[in-house]
Amino acid sequence: MDHFLYKDGALHAEDVPVADIAAEVGTPFYCYSTATLTRHFRLFDEALDGIPHLVCYAMKAASNQAILKTLAQAGAGMDVVSGGEYLRAKAAGVPGNRIVFSGVGKTRDEMRVALEGGIRQFNVESEPEMQALSEVASSFGFEAPITVRVNPDVDAKTHAKIATGKSENKFGIPIARAREVYAEAARLPGLKVIGIDVHIGSQLTELEPFRLAYQKVAELTEVLRADGHEITRLDLGGGLGIPYTRSNEAPPLPVEYGELIKETVGHLDCEIEIEPGRLVAGNAGILVTKVIYVKSGEGRDFLILDGAMNDLIRPAMYEAYHDIIPVTEPRPGVEQAKYDIVGPVCESGDTFAKERLMPPVSEGDLVAFRSAGAYGAVMASEYNTRPLVPEVLVHEHQFAVIRPRPTFDEMINRDTIPEWL
Ligand SMILES: *Cc1c(COP(=O)(O)O)cnc(C)c1O
Repeated sequence: MDHFLYKDGALHAEDVPVADIAAEVGTPFYCYSTATLTRHFRLFDEALDGIPHLVCYAMKAASNQAILKTLAQAGAGMDVVSGGEYLRAKAAGVPGNRIVFSGVGKTRDEMRVALEGGIRQFNVESEPEMQALSEVASSFGFEAPITVRVNPDVDAKTHAKIATGKSENKFGIPIARAREVYAEAARLPGLKVIGIDVHIGSQLTELEPFRLAYQKVAELTEVLRADGHEITRLDLGGGLGIPYTRSNEAPPLPVEYGELIKETVGHLDCEIEIEPGRLVAGNAGILVTKVIYVKSGEGRDFLILDGAMNDLIRPAMYEAYHDIIPVTEPRPGVEQAKYDIVGPVCESGDTFAKERLMPPVSEGDLVAFRSAGAYGAVMASEYNTRPLVPEVLVHEHQFAVIRPRPTFDEMINRDTIPEWL
């Protein structure tokens, strides 16, 4: 459920007409709903009621300061995957003891920044990384709390580019080698083993892969405890999918996911962490664009929008589907038109949808991409010297620009010319 609905014939974000925001901000822009963000966070939080837990929002999904602050105030911790994200989380007021640090390639500098600023735990992904962290932590007099990310070799049944839990993926250590790696972790100075981490992929639409992975984590917990390790925390990753279309079968609900967690690992007396990103932010954001032209082609009409692949890369990168709807509510029973929906960027990949049926729109009309809040603005670029797409946050009847559109002067003046030119 989200808070982008037609009211009085116009698409609203909570209580604000989307067209009013467009009039003030221009297009394209991302628009997020505070109510949807906090609702989704709470669904996860409540799904784990009854067991000690922390929901660490995977902020790579949408990392604007205002979004982080909204979620942090609701009680979220953060899952970060870079030193930059760590600093972003801190800047939004998240204390270090609510930040977990994931990612396959943490540098020594990033480790040091997190150790000095305070960190809940590092999710270590390889032996070389573990050695580096041991060196950095001991040289600065820290004891780094760690889990080791295990790769359970489970098929997440999602798009290949966002599957992370098969043995051929770059993530984590093979679960079969876990005992060896934990033994080494226990030997190394500057590290304190506290738990196990797993994350098998993103946009999972079934519970079964989670069940398989979490059962393996539960077994491993017993094995490692028997080896003498103190396993008090299980980080179960993110990955629960969202409905990108309203017609498709709905993915499992957070409450069902919570039940599964309790069933598989609830008996282990561990604190549970989960790291949802997409489900928190995905349906909490839309991308609003304007129709520049409707161009008749051979056997098809092109809808040329002022938003492009540089603003929302998911269709080009993952063949992702987004509902695209007019901002002015279509008349009931209006006959659908068929469009290839494209942006102005000079690549054939700048195509959002082919032969898409939708209510007819004309030049100058606003259209909105639904479910664009996660992996949208954060993946945007300035390709074709298109300004980085701005972001707006709505809260009931108010809205605020939370990242302004840069001017062309700002963009151009970021470059510097060497003195020999
Ligand atoms: C990307 C990622 C997540 C979040 O995945 P979603 O599918 O957005 O929920 C969580 N944990 C790790 C380690 C990740 O890389």
